[in-house]
Amino acid sequence: MILETLSLQGFRNYAQADFEFDPGVNLIVGDNAQGKTNLLEAIAYLGSGKSFRAQKTGEMVGFGAEFGEISGTVFSQERRQSLRFVLFPGARPRQIWRNGVKKKSAGDIAGVLPTVLFCPEDLMILKSGAAQRRRFGDNALCQLRPNYDAALTEYNRILEQKGRILKDHFENPRLLDILPEYNARLCQVGALLISYRARFYDSLGKAAAVYHNQFSGGAEAFRLEYKTVSTVPDVFAPVPVLTENLLAHSRAHYRAELESGQCLTGPHRDDFTVTLSGVDLKAYGSQGQTRTSAISLKLAQRELMAREWGEEPVLLLDDVLSELDPGRQDFVLNQIVSGQVFITCCEPGRFTRLGKTMEIKQGRVIR
Ligand code: ATP
Ligand code: MG
Repeated sequence: MILETLSLQGFRNYAQADFEFDPGVNLIVGDNAQGKTNLLEAIAYLGSGKSFRAQKTGEMVGFGAEFGEISGTVFSQERRQSLRFVLFPGARPRQIWRNGVKKKSAGDIAGVLPTVLFCPEDLMILKSGAAQRRRFGDNALCQLRPNYDAALTEYNRILEQKGRILKDHFENPRLLDILPEYNARLCQVGALLISYRARFYDSLGKAAAVYHNQFSGGAEAFRLEYKTVSTVPDVFAPVPVLTENLLAHSRAHYRAELESGQCLTGPHRDDFTVTLSGVDLKAYGSQGQTRTSAISLKLAQRELMAREWGEEPVLLLDDVLSELDPGRQDFVLNQIVSGQVFITCCEPGRFTRLGKTMEIKQGRVIR
């Protein structure tokens, strides 16, 4: 997928701006608070209808503007297509247009302009808590597999209801009558999640290992391992077997759950680990190894999406350049040769041999 042009009107600090992009690397430079991340947000939103930073849609409408508009032309699925979003400041629903036709939901534009974002927080994904890694994995998998998205939503709904039962049963013991039903359903849907995740992490780990190998000049063997509930001996087992595994764990923790009032069993606590040549990265990895591994993971995510859609998703790298040493910067600027890449950075003087550089100042392209 190639984003060829983009127009912003009343979007964040862009009153009106038009862009033409390179099919390769687009380096976006500018001082702090000039609109670099806003531009990446607009691109990601145009492709997904989701913002990686706004809590409410209205936040993205420029201060004082009556509406905000993001529109662009994309070369995707072997033809030129147009996408357009119109956003409003209050409760009025947004409008979505594809090729001039108004669409009901963001689902109707899926696959036209998928993006993969990498921001500074992601650099530490392998050092931070399990929740961040789960979020990364879930986001990636939801984009790849809409059925996983649906299963995850259902799982979280049942989990919340079970959590309420476990909290309230002290005052209302009759709630315990319905607990087995919730446990059974949670294990069924949980098993489905594990099955999806096992396959996803397996492919992701293998693809990331190839990138990490290039990054590290073949010095380190990257290995990713998916971790789930302890009573699951084989994550690739059929879903009914996984369901039984989860039920066994659930039964063993029944008392403990009632006493603690907390849900102690299920794949909502899953995680994954990375080892480099057998050494655990979370415990022992250096900063450089941690960052390189994180970028390898994101590039791997993009590759899995490319296999799925048949085209490379647009890669958005926000502010990660300055965190890397010169050799790794060169890799990012000059050696990610496939697909379209947007890279923001604050330091002037950076350039790429594979595309074009533009400078942003106060919501305008000045060069
Ligand atoms: P940095 O290098 O610090 O990351 P940046 O170029 O990425 O900077 P952005 O986050 O893109 O900066 O832009 C931030 C600017 O956009 C802020 O000055 C903020 O006030 C402004 N801004 C954010 N939302 C809106 C909005 N809805 N309307 C107008 N301006 C906005
Ligand atoms: Mg920024």
